[in-house]
Amino acid sequence: MWKATTAVALIVAWSLVAAAQTIRQVSLVITNGIVVTVDGANRIITPGAVAIDGSDIVAVDTTDNVRRQFRARQTIDAAGQVVMPGLVNTHTHAPMVLYRGLADDLALDEWLTRYIFPAEAKTVSPEFVRAGTRLAALEMIESGTTTYADMYYFEEEIANETKLAGLRGVLGQTIIQFPVADAKTPVEGLARAERFIQTFKSDPLITPAVAPHAIYTNDSATLKAAREMSMRLGVPTLIHVAETQSEAMTAKERGSATVVSYLDSIGFLGPGVVAAHAVWVNESDMALLKSRGVGVSHNPVSNMKLASGIAPVKAYLAADVAIGLGTDGAASNNDLDMFETMRAASFLQKVATSDPTAVSARTAVRMATIGGARVLGMDKQIGSLEPGKRADVIIVSMSATRQTPMYDPLSHLVYVTRGDDVQTTIVNGKVLMRDRKVLTLDRAAVLRDAKKWAGTVSAAVAH
Ligand SMILES: [Zn+2]
Repeated sequence: MWKATTAVALIVAWSLVAAAQTIRQVSLVITNGIVVTVDGANRIITPGAVAIDGSDIVAVDTTDNVRRQFRARQTIDAAGQVVMPGLVNTHTHAPMVLYRGLADDLALDEWLTRYIFPAEAKTVSPEFVRAGTRLAALEMIESGTTTYADMYYFEEEIANETKLAGLRGVLGQTIIQFPVADAKTPVEGLARAERFIQTFKSDPLITPAVAPHAIYTNDSATLKAAREMSMRLGVPTLIHVAETQSEAMTAKERGSATVVSYLDSIGFLGPGVVAAHAVWVNESDMALLKSRGVGVSHNPVSNMKLASGIAPVKAYLAADVAIGLGTDGAASNNDLDMFETMRAASFLQKVATSDPTAVSARTAVRMATIGGARVLGMDKQIGSLEPGKRADVIIVSMSATRQTPMYDPLSHLVYVTRGDDVQTTIVNGKVLMRDRKVLTLDRAAVLRDAKKWAGTVSAAVAH
């Protein structure tokens, strides 16, 4: 009798110790959500939970299973809301939010040469870039973008502001043939790019990159030098490719039939290259992009607004070219809302191909998350909710009138949801916005600053 009691007591004690050992303390758990994982099996877990420790996701499972295994210092109840990977904007020019609505209803060449390049020549400065990046970061956090790829001037200022806001960025220092605010020559621009890359190379949030603007704004020597630098330093190359039909004229002057074949002829194409737009491509161009491992950033709203054309997204998907979504700069969009971009990508491809299945809701969500991560070479780190990946997570309300009722969360995310529906934004395990309150930026100050800059921009373009 005595022996049996002791044995039972020992077993009870041992199981308590074992249970205590298996419960792991973590920094943050999101519970009760409709967890859209965007993993390989496209699992949706309801009610699901995501456990985060430090910068990493440690579990994605049912709420019951996660509760059994983890105790969190902070818990967010996401009942009735979608929990999904943060959106990846593969192409923008963040500070251009300060030119939002400055010049509309124009084609790319006239818009660029008559309005944007002159406005930039008169207004771009480190202060302008910082104020613009803060405004863009605020808009991205408020609309669920957690990673963005950028091409602009004074990229080190953009990197610093991006880090302060807490966002993840693949940030490319622009290289352009003519004198600009941060470089008088492309050689100066390249030297600036190299310094920028060395400064931010090991940063947990910033991936520095080289961004030769386009083939029509750079000669062959500059393009080759930019690509050589990015390969030598092991960083991405961001470039506008075949955005408009007229860009092929430059390629023809340089002895190639198309923009893509010209870039290949100078040895430019390869892994790490992100081609923004890639609208005007033929079948052999697409095969080249695929075989060279180039990623494509599709920007349907900007392409529609500037009447640039329609990228063959259905064909890219069929050929398994890495393709993600982007907004482009806010001067040609005119916002940074990736939900709007998902919807536009889906609708535009349906109408272009007379095929309602060309880009389904599921495909649009994948393009805006894991697809974009693959384009940026970051699909091992971000783009889906899976243990071991960085904790870039958004929580999206599904309670608006236009979201009621709900049968399929993927359908709602693409066809009725707006950026404003995002409630909470988390990057690298850090909560940047909670219940629509941005914690890393002073919203009122950012908006006030932007309005002040608008006065400077208006005065500059008036003369
Ligand atoms: Zn662009």
